[in-house]
Amino acid sequence: MTPFLPDLPHSLSAAMRRGLLGKCPRCGGVHLFARFLKPVDRCPLCGQDWTLHAADDFPPYVAILITGHILAPVMIVLGSATAIPMWVTVAIALILAVVLLLSLLQPAKGAIIALQWWMGMQGFAERPGKQEAGIA
Ligand SMILES: [Zn+2]
Repeated sequence: MTPFLPDLPHSLSAAMRRGLLGKCPRCGGVHLFARFLKPVDRCPLCGQDWTLHAADDFPPYVAILITGHILAPVMIVLGSATAIPMWVTVAIALILAVVLLLSLLQPAKGAIIALQWWMGMQGFAERPGKQEAGIA
């Protein structure tokens, strides 16, 4: 039986793209998340330990930053349209903010976990991804 050889990413952007899509940044084959924002403890395919990450508050920061940059022009356009009542503008902004934040949180966390793995940050310091891939 041939041992499983993970399809290692060849660049940081490839690893982060896998994380964005919710796939294992190391092998790209399975889901990175067991629940909405809870990564699997260990990839069932390649065995990478994902409990070593420490994404902390960075994914919400990224999600809020992107949401704000999308919402700002929308609020300016809606605010300058005098025909739209203020309560409708506020309702649209609130709904849009919640939808954007919820949809950006998991991809942001996946990308940041991939970034930490690739750069050998936090608990990944002993086994950096780029050294494993032969790029360092
Ligand atoms: Zn994997």
